[in-house]
Amino acid sequence: MKASFKVQCWLKRLYRRGFRFQKYLQMLRHSQFHTPEQLQQYQNQALHKMVSHCYKNVPFYQDLFRSLRMLPGDIKTSADLRKLPFLDKKTVQENYDKLISKKHHNFLCNMGTTSGSTGMPGKFIRDYDAINFEHAIVWRHWQNSGDFGKRRISLRGEIIVPASQTHPPFWHYNSANQELQMSSYHLSRDNSVHYIDKILEFQPRVLYCGPSMGYVLAKFFKYHQVDYRFDVIFTSSESLETDVRSYIETVFQSPIIDWYGQAERVVAIGENRICRCYHIQEDYSIVEFLSTSEQNRYELVGTQLHNYVMPLLRYRTFDYIDSRSELLSGVVCQCGSHFRTVERILGRSYGYLLTPEGYHIAITAHIPVGVDNVIEAQFYQEKIGEVTLKVLTNGRFTEVDRERLVANTLKHTSPFMKVNVIEVDDIPRGPNGKFINIVNNMSLN
Ligand SMILES: [Zn+2]
Repeated sequence: MKASFKVQCWLKRLYRRGFRFQKYLQMLRHSQFHTPEQLQQYQNQALHKMVSHCYKNVPFYQDLFRSLRMLPGDIKTSADLRKLPFLDKKTVQENYDKLISKKHHNFLCNMGTTSGSTGMPGKFIRDYDAINFEHAIVWRHWQNSGDFGKRRISLRGEIIVPASQTHPPFWHYNSANQELQMSSYHLSRDNSVHYIDKILEFQPRVLYCGPSMGYVLAKFFKYHQVDYRFDVIFTSSESLETDVRSYIETVFQSPIIDWYGQAERVVAIGENRICRCYHIQEDYSIVEFLSTSEQNRYELVGTQLHNYVMPLLRYRTFDYIDSRSELLSGVVCQCGSHFRTVERILGRSYGYLLTPEGYHIAITAHIPVGVDNVIEAQFYQEKIGEVTLKVLTNGRFTEVDRERLVANTLKHTSPFMKVNVIEVDDIPRGPNGKFINIVNNMSLN
């Protein structure tokens, strides 16, 4: 088990940090300081290449261009993108096969799944090159914050060791990344002392976590009155609320540097350690801001520039940001970047479920993936050990779907969890109009 895990880690590293990775990282270190003119030129060139590819090789876009009576030459700049309609998750899933490039080879592609911010399960494919590029963008983000491969622990909502395991170790050392991957699943009050002992022994300099798990870990350090300081804490995957940020930063006396991305890989936003601004990563994709009825609030729409296997042009994320218009004009920031600045990301609030064993389950998005006839699913918990899945169906929901949902939930939460599935006509959005995966009316205390 241990040996195969080690091999897996090294293979994953080889895959993500393939032969183009270093080349991309070098290029990206340079492009983050591009002037607006250079950025425009960079984006337009990449867009032209991508649109030509779509026209030649991707059946969905071939049909689209034909129906619009357009040629690739009609999309020369990011402003020309407006000539194309928006794409959304529903359209992608309905046209899944047609969106895959005819030049695509299964070899070395990777599948991403999401329930994302609309709660609707979805599948997306990325090619080897795109994964190398994505990895290089994330590495730039880490390196800009002084992390050139320091010892790190990760707590990213993963199970890591079998769910049935009741004794430590609840972690694996990934030697390829010098990373101690800790199970979020087993982090309970009873086990917390084992986690703390291991962290003190391992002496990581970097913590990489989802905000909800970082918050739980910080709670336990405070509960046991143990002081520990990281050089930096990287958060991603969930919305980082102000009070959660300040709690974690205070307990660990370490700055949090946040990152926003999504499984569809159409928009990336990184916080910069020097200026503490959230900058749109303009060399990753072309990002449009769709106005909403609220002032200074926009929906993020992204066009991929690097994923040739299943290109997404003008993809609506249904994720929102707040920003004043002057910050969206790309004025130079004190960190030296012309990337546009976002003030607040109103993204995904995942929260967590609490199992009868006291485990915190932060990620449930994959539970409904693959269950037919479910359009949206929300987990609702108000009692320990009991969860209700509210599902919006397409009207053809069967007993088999119900049983599969229950089985997936038991597998990914706890075999002792009581699971209720109820069909609803509507799943109300949160206060900012966002879909909420987990509604939890219990606090940790
Ligand atoms: Zn900046």
